[in-house]
Formats: sequence, C-alpha cells, structure tokens
Amino acid sequence: MTNEPTSAGNRKLRYAIIGAGMAGILAGVRLRARGENDFVIYEKGASVGGTWRENRYPGLTCDVPAHAYTYSFAPNPDWSAFYAGGPEIQAYFQRIVTQYGLDDAIRFETEVVACEYDDESGQWRITTGSGETDVVDVVIAASGVLHHPNVPDLPGLASFAGEAFHSARWPDNLDLDGRRVGVIGNGSTGVQIVTALSTQCEKVVHFQRSPQWIMPVPFFTYSDEERQAFRDDPELIEAIRNGEDYWAGIRRFNTALVDTNSPEMAEIEAIVLRNLEESVRDPVLREKLRPDYRAACKRLIYSWSYYDAVQRPTVEVERSGIAEVTTDGVIAGDGTFHALDVLVLATGFKADRFIRPTRVTRRGGVDLDQIWARRPKAYMAISIPELPNFFMLNGPTGPVGNFSLIDIAERQWAYIEHLLDRLRDDAREISVSEEAMEAYEVRRIAAAKTTIFGSGCTSWYLDAEGVPASWPWSYQAFADAMEAPDLTQYDVRIRADLPRPA
Ligand code: NAP
Repeated sequence: MTNEPTSAGNRKLRYAIIGAGMAGILAGVRLRARGENDFVIYEKGASVGGTWRENRYPGLTCDVPAHAYTYSFAPNPDWSAFYAGGPEIQAYFQRIVTQYGLDDAIRFETEVVACEYDDESGQWRITTGSGETDVVDVVIAASGVLHHPNVPDLPGLASFAGEAFHSARWPDNLDLDGRRVGVIGNGSTGVQIVTALSTQCEKVVHFQRSPQWIMPVPFFTYSDEERQAFRDDPELIEAIRNGEDYWAGIRRFNTALVDTNSPEMAEIEAIVLRNLEESVRDPVLREKLRPDYRAACKRLIYSWSYYDAVQRPTVEVERSGIAEVTTDGVIAGDGTFHALDVLVLATGFKADRFIRPTRVTRRGGVDLDQIWARRPKAYMAISIPELPNFFMLNGPTGPVGNFSLIDIAERQWAYIEHLLDRLRDDAREISVSEEAMEAYEVRRIAAAKTTIFGSGCTSWYLDAEGVPASWPWSYQAFADAMEAPDLTQYDVRIRADLPRPA
C-alpha cells in the first residue's frame, strides 16, 4: 500500500525501475539493502545486462579495467583479464541479479510505454506495452543511453544480398570463416570488430569516415594463481579499483578533457601521435589513419592491437567514403569496388533518446519531448523540472569519457538516496526547480563548449546544436556534487497529511 498517512520518516514507497541493465540492477540491489521490496524492474528485453546483452559482436570488450568496471559491493576476483570481454561481463550482471535475489523483481519483455504523473495522488501511473498498468511513487529511469541503433541511410543498402546488420544486432551463429566482411564505422565498436575479424575472415574492409586516435594500453590475462590471490586477499582488488595509480590516471585524463591546453592533454596527444608514427609502418596507411582533429575529441579509443590488425594482409582501410551499396558489395567514394558477403554497420547510436520513446508526461500536458525540445537536460544528470519523484541514472549531461559508468551510477544513486529520504520523510514531491535547471544548463553549456569534446570534431557526445552533452567539470567536482543534493535547488512539496509546523 502506498501513500497511506504515516508519520514523517515512515512513508513506504513503491518504485518502478525502468531497465535491468547495470544501473537498474544497482537500484534494485540498493533498495533491497534497505529492506525495501516494493519495486518492479521493468525490462523490455528477455534478459538482464542492457548494453552487454544487446552487444554480442566479436571482440566486444570493456575498455575500463575489469576490476574498476565492477560494483563496489560485489568485487569479482574471477575476471579473466585486465579488460574483460562482453560475455563475461554479461555473466557477472546475471550472477549479481541471482545473488541479490532480484530475479523475481524483474518483469522481462515488458516495455514501459508511458509514465504519467497524477498531480492529485502524487503518483506515477506506468503503462506497459501490453496495456498493463502499475501505480508507483517513484520512477527510476535506468534505461541506458546507447540502445537505439543509428542505421545510416546509405544508397543501395536495402539491395545488399548478403547479411547486413547493425553492430548491436549481431546474428546468432554467424559463420565468418573465409568470408569477406565490410565494417562501416570507426568508433570503439568498429575498432574492436575489425581487430577481432582480422584473424578470422578472408577479408575485412574497414570503412572509416573519420580516422581515430588510438591510445595504446596494455592487455594481459590473469592467471589462475592471480585469481586465487584476488580471492584470498580482497585488498589486491581494492588496490586496482581504488589504488592511487588508477585514480591518478582518471584525474590526469579528466584534467585533459576539461583543460585542453594542460600538460595532461599534451601528454595524451604525444602518446597517441607516437603510437601512430611508430606502430604503422606503411606511410600511405599511416596517413589514412591520421585524424585531423585533437585526441579525445571523440571518445578516445583504447586498443592494444588495432594497429596490428589493420596491418594484416586481410584488412583494408577505405577512407574515400561510400558511394553506393550494391547487391554484392560496396562502391567506395573513389570508385573502388569491394566485393563483400557481410556488411556490419558499426555506426553508433541515437544518443539523445534516453528513456524515450517512453511517453513521460505530467498532467496538464507537459511531457518529456517538450521539456527536451531543444536538448535533453537533467539537473546533475538526475532530475528534471516538472517531473516529480522521477530520477535518472546515467541521464543526460553526466560524465562521459573513458570512465567506469558503474562508479558514476553508484555515486548518482547515493545522491538519489538523499532525495528518496525526503520522500520517505515529509516530502510528497521533489523535482529540480526550473530556475535551478536553467542556471545549471547555462553554466554547464558554457563550460562544455571549452572541453576537448567541443574542440572541433563530430561525435555522439555532441547535441543537435553541436554542444557537448556532458558533465564539463572535473571528476572530483562530480564526486563532490553527488555527496548530497543541495535541496535549495529543488521544488520540495511537503505532504498534506503531516501536521503543519507551528
Ligand atoms: P560511435 O562512437 O558513435 O561511432 C560510430 C561510427 O560510425 C563513427 O566512426 C562514425 O563516423 C560512423 N558513421 C556513422 N554514420 C555513418 C555513415 N552514415 N557513414 C559512414 N560512417 C558513419 O559508435 P560506437 O563505436 O558504437 O561507440 C559508441 C560508444 O559506445 C562509444 O563511444 C563508447 O562510449 C561505447 N562503447 C564502449 C566500448 C568499451 O570498450 N567500453 C566498446 C564499444 C562501445 P564519424 O566519426 O565520421 O561520425
């Protein structure tokens, strides 16, 4: 039962968590840890894991160190390598769901199509694709960022007779042995796919509209002895995920992102330039791979083997664009024909969707599409004006870059917990005020334009007006901001059933 008169501090809340990916699982675990069980995790897919369920392409790896891309409350001594592969990460999330007893809380294949706030009851009405409804006090939007594939409108694409698919729709049991594969797209995904296929296929053509700077990183697997040592001594894991080395690296990288003239940025530029100059032997190929924008303007590619891969005789880099897709291949911009059996569209995602197309409305007609007409925005990446008791994990304008999104979501959850405490206590409604949202956006946009992401390249980090849609300050500033909300920035409406202060 919800919204029954209770004394301050005792209000029991019912929650809808949207998405059973990394962030939704986190929310479920955290609520359970408080003894709160009145929640449902709505999941449009048939299993958990979000991005790790959707992406099953060869070479899928998380380029954040595995021990840092792990919940703080559930270290995993069994990671097989410094950077873990997709299937292993997916198995980790599945294991956490079972270990924390969340299986029964998840409604699979149940897409939330509408969330409507009722001003009278102060509750959200949730409607699913099959027309079922639920009434909750709080919505946690944990629906992820990169889950709407961007499928390019290439001339002739529909005529291709072989398999053509987006990288996040990799077909089961696709046999690539001895086949000729075209990979369109050169983000983290395309680079990982080309690297993996370079030793597997007869031929791989990497269509790069823009080349990428490549940050060389070490890759190593953990031996049985090392994994046993992690099991025996959790401090060894702690030393990786919270060690000075790791955080010093994050701080240096973050300083570079927000201060484009810093020595830290110069160091990154020197490393990636040296990597290109020293790793790619053929001068013609080297020039093809040389970006004309600054390092880290697009999300920096971390790779230990891409330059090796593109120098294999199986791989060809095509930089002249795509004139046309034909039934049996691709005609490049310079007229070269590439005969292909398979076409992989590693062309990224529509990054401005977030919870949409779910219709999020408030009685009186305000909806998320209107609020986000110009650009997606959320105060501290969490709260949206006019949408009370609706909180986002990894919402718009959060930190982006080569960081652990798990760490980011955990910090955001800690912040949301403070807001929930007010709802458990004396508040009926909490949402950021219009004034606070606008002031935040003015400050954020001004700072975002000066970050490296705004230094002159295209990327999914930019909004429709070309402004980086990111947290533009330091990681430490983000960590500090997540310590506790400044409630003066929020519209907090106190419950009517509580005695008025004398
Ligand atoms: P992405 O970074 O957005 O890259 C998309 C690529 O497709 C770009 O090279 C883009 O070229 C190209 N492209 C788009 N439309 C095209 C068109 N019409 N014709 C030709 N080329 C086109 O997408 P992503 O590689 O899937 O990566 C998205 C994000 O997912 C990453 O930035 C990262 O945050 C995350 N990710 C992380 C990991 C990890 O290891 N942690 C791995 C994979 C993905 P332009 O650059 O010229 O626009």
